[in-house]
Amino acid sequence: MTGDETPSTDVTDTDGTTRGPEAAARDAPAAATDGGTETTTIDPWGSSTIADYRKLFEEFGIEAFDEILPAVPDPHYLMRRGVIFGHRDYEPVAAALSNDEPAAVLSGFMPTGDPHIGHKLVFDEIIWHQQQGADAYALIADLEAHSARGMSWDEIDEHAESYLLSLLALGFDPEAGTLYRQSQNRELQDLAFELGSNARFAEFSSIYGFDGETSVSHMQSVVTQMADMLYPQLVDEPKPTVIPVGPDQDPHVRLARDLAVRMRFFKVSRAYASFEADAAERELIGRAYEALTESAGDEETVRCEDAADWLETHAVDPEQTAARGSACNKLSEAGKEPVRPRVRFFHRHGPEDAFEAMINAIEGEKRVYEGHIDAFELDFTEAEALAREVEVDAGGYGFIQPSSIYHRFMSGLTGGKMSSSIPASHISLLDDPEDGYDKVKSATTGGRETAELQRELGGEADDCPVYELYAYLLANDDDGLATEVYEECVGGERLCGDCKEQAAVLMKEFLKNHQEKREDAKELLAEIDIDLDSNRRGPGGSH
Ligand code: SF4
Repeated sequence: MTGDETPSTDVTDTDGTTRGPEAAARDAPAAATDGGTETTTIDPWGSSTIADYRKLFEEFGIEAFDEILPAVPDPHYLMRRGVIFGHRDYEPVAAALSNDEPAAVLSGFMPTGDPHIGHKLVFDEIIWHQQQGADAYALIADLEAHSARGMSWDEIDEHAESYLLSLLALGFDPEAGTLYRQSQNRELQDLAFELGSNARFAEFSSIYGFDGETSVSHMQSVVTQMADMLYPQLVDEPKPTVIPVGPDQDPHVRLARDLAVRMRFFKVSRAYASFEADAAERELIGRAYEALTESAGDEETVRCEDAADWLETHAVDPEQTAARGSACNKLSEAGKEPVRPRVRFFHRHGPEDAFEAMINAIEGEKRVYEGHIDAFELDFTEAEALAREVEVDAGGYGFIQPSSIYHRFMSGLTGGKMSSSIPASHISLLDDPEDGYDKVKSATTGGRETAELQRELGGEADDCPVYELYAYLLANDDDGLATEVYEECVGGERLCGDCKEQAAVLMKEFLKNHQEKREDAKELLAEIDIDLDSNRRGPGGSH
């Protein structure tokens, strides 16, 4: 994992941020399309193209961030303005932050070049979560940079230092948080090894397109990234953990979530009878049970054959037809067995002692079967907590699936995508402030062909890289400024010359201030236990 081209353990060559003023950006998350020919591609090591952010919701199952925004305490401006547009399972993290319960944030940075304004998004996301009370982790993805990008160790050392200085200059608290390099973290390597035992080449091939030419070290760097995402839960206890990244890193997040489940000793599920039912069947059996209980009263026993009869005579959605058929078969075979809601603990793997400990830990009525236990007096949440507790006591990890939040890719100042290989398209955090000023002054805009047309039609702030600079960085926490620029632009009151001058001055001030803080941070960095002279050998890989 790791930020996006960002910062991340896998950085790609595009970088992200978005456009739009607050809600406008959230409601119209479309990136520029090339006459409708651009497609949405997600590639952790390539150049990802997001033609329409809404497709990430429909095709990849990423959830819209604005739906959870009200549950986030004191949300960061990147959240308020829709720059952070999506998430996977962020609810537990938001709840933990709200309730002062343990939570963690982690992202990584592949040190392939200088940190730039796209990376700043992830720096800010880490720091904000730290300020909200989360344990914060930032890592240097040096194994990935060496194996997947062929970076030399000298180059990696130099860039690693630069990333860390910017992170510290922006406010990361190293005493409260953790910084590490993949190559120097033995505990991480051990976890990666364990995770590798549960990962298969076939799925790497399917997810990442790995083939016979892929280096073994590149594959190893993938399991290392999986370990990164779970590492915060090794340190104290399992806890909700968020990984802030660009959407190009989503394949890593999904794999890490899968591996977190595969490592668990127990699977907890709901059940209604002694037989196995899948989620679709359970939903229908539950519906039959609720209906029959309601009509017959709690005292009356609902039997499996009654539930089968009910299901056969009640309408279901067309896509549930197959599940109804199989559920009815299972219910009919169970005959007079009572239907009773319960939670089920499957013993997937781990020591036999753990199964015995699970049996002993369950209070109230329970039934023990070969490989699973049914408990009748626990609700699902209690059961999950108990399974995790028993697992950790028995030597397991008890991982909670990591959550993620996704920010938009930033547009290049010269139009198109921001690219590290095109200096004019992006602003490095190390750029001379005067160069930063000049780059903003030379940026393309969403302005009209003439000042007259601009006054008449208004500018196109939603397609303007300069507006993005305000929304993502220059307006900082000042929503009033971001809104003012947007509204004056689209209302025709703002002309691009003055607008760019204002942005250029703000950029110059930001770079000057940031670089002074980087100088101050050198002393702090020297005190941190992280080796920036790795003294390693090896040519690195290229694939
Ligand atoms: Fe962009 Fe500003 Fe011009 Fe509007 S006025 S198009 S925000 S540069």
